[in-house]
Amino acid sequence: MNILLLGGGGREHALAWKLAQSANCDMLFAAPGNPGIAQHATLVDLDATDHAAVLSFCAANAIGLVVIGPEAPLVDGLADSLRAAGVPVFGPSKLGAQLEGSKGFTKDLCARANIPTAGYARVTNKADAHAALAPFGLPVVIKADGLAAGKGVIIAMTHEEAQAAIEDMFSGSFGAAGAEVVIEEYMTGEEASFFALTDGTTILPFGSAQDHKRVGDGDTGPNTGGMGAYSPARVLTPTLEARVIEEIIKPTVETMAAEGMPYSGVLYAGLMLTRTGPKLIEYNARFGDPECQVLMMRLQDNLVTLLLAVAQGTLAAHPPVTLSPDPALTIVMAAQGYPGTPKKGGTIGNIADAEADGAKVFHAGTAMRNGTLISTGGRVLNVTASGPTVRAAQAKAYKALSVVDFADGFARSDIGWREVAREDA
Ligand code: ATP
Repeated sequence: MNILLLGGGGREHALAWKLAQSANCDMLFAAPGNPGIAQHATLVDLDATDHAAVLSFCAANAIGLVVIGPEAPLVDGLADSLRAAGVPVFGPSKLGAQLEGSKGFTKDLCARANIPTAGYARVTNKADAHAALAPFGLPVVIKADGLAAGKGVIIAMTHEEAQAAIEDMFSGSFGAAGAEVVIEEYMTGEEASFFALTDGTTILPFGSAQDHKRVGDGDTGPNTGGMGAYSPARVLTPTLEARVIEEIIKPTVETMAAEGMPYSGVLYAGLMLTRTGPKLIEYNARFGDPECQVLMMRLQDNLVTLLLAVAQGTLAAHPPVTLSPDPALTIVMAAQGYPGTPKKGGTIGNIADAEADGAKVFHAGTAMRNGTLISTGGRVLNVTASGPTVRAAQAKAYKALSVVDFADGFARSDIGWREVAREDA
C-alpha cells in the first residue's frame, strides 16, 4: 500500500521509521518531511492547507492511507476532506479535533460527561472574565481557548497577575486563539501523558509517557515544546491507568460518538495525578512530540495495520497494542538560543556513529545544504534509546548524544531524572 505522511518534525520521523518497517508499506511519501524522514520516504512538495492538492496527490499515487502528524491540518478539517473522498486517513475530523483546538469545548464536554478535570469558567470578553475570576482561589490558571503552541497558558499567582493575563489575552496578542478565555482552578500533582487509539468505538491503550517542558536542568527556565521524554511513566500505575480509561477516555469517546462527532485517531490525554485521582488537564488530537518518538521505539506491532484499522473503523478486530516492556527515553538537542531566538544553520555530523550501538537519532529541525546536514533552529534532533531500565536507556541515549557533532546545539543533562529516582528508591 502507498502511504502519505504529513508533517516534518521528530514525531513524523519516528512515524516514518516505523511505517517503513511494515511489510504492507510499498511507497511512503512525506510532505514536507525532513532529511531524516527522507531516509525512509520520498519527500513531496505538497501544501497540507491545500486540500484539493492533497486529494489529487492521493488519487495520482494510489494512496491507501494518509497519516496526519501535526494538529493544525486536523483542526483545519483535512481529515474530513480525505474521508469525503474515500481516502482512509489516520486523524480526527474537524469536529473531533476540537478536543485540542478549543479548551472551552473540552471543558464543556468534561462537564457533560462527568469527566474529572479542574473547575472552570468560559468567557468571551474582559468584563465577564474579571467577574468570573472572583470565586477562584490562587494560583489560578488563565488559558487562551485556541491553539497557541503551548504559550497560551498563564499560571497566575496573584489576582493582579490574573487580571493582567486577562487583559493581555483579550488585547489580541493570541489572535483568534484568544477570542475566548478559559479560567481554571489550579490543580496540584505529578503530570503524566496517556495515549489511546480509537476508531470512534473501540479503544486500544497505547501507553504512557512523561516529558520535560522546561529548557533547563532541574526543570528550570522557560517552557519549551518539550526537551525530552520517556515511556512508560510508572507513576501511572496499572490501577491509575484503568481509572484513566474508565473515567476519562471511555466517556470522552462515548460522548463524542453519541453527539455525532465520532473521534477517530489518537487521543493524547495530559493528566494531573491529584490526591483524589487522575484529572484531565487537556487533550491533544495527535501524538506528542517528543512522546511519539519513545512510543514508536517501544511499539512491537505493525504500525500500518494499526493505523489503518483506526482509519477504517476496524479496531475491534485488532489485538491490543504491544509495547516492549523495556523503557525508552529521548533527549532533545536544540539549537542554542531556543526557546528564544535559536541559532540557525549550524552543521551536524556523526549521526551514523551515534546510532552504532542501537540508539536512534530522529531529525526534528534539520535541512541539507550543499550536501551538509544543518540545523534549522528550534528543536533539532531527538536522540532516542531503550534499555532494560530507564537508567540504562538514559545512559545509552546520552552516550549516543555525546557522539553527535553539533557545536551549535545543547541538551538537558537530566532527562528521565524522576523515573531514575523512582528506580533507585
Ligand atoms: P501544551 O501545548 O504545552 O501541551 P497547552 O497550551 O495545550 O500546552 P495545557 O496543556 O492546557 O496547555 O497547559 C500547559 C501546562 O500548564 C500543563 O502542562 C500544566 O503544567 C499547566 N496547567 C494547565 N492547566 C492547569 C491546571 N488547571 N492546574 C495546574 N496546572 C495546569
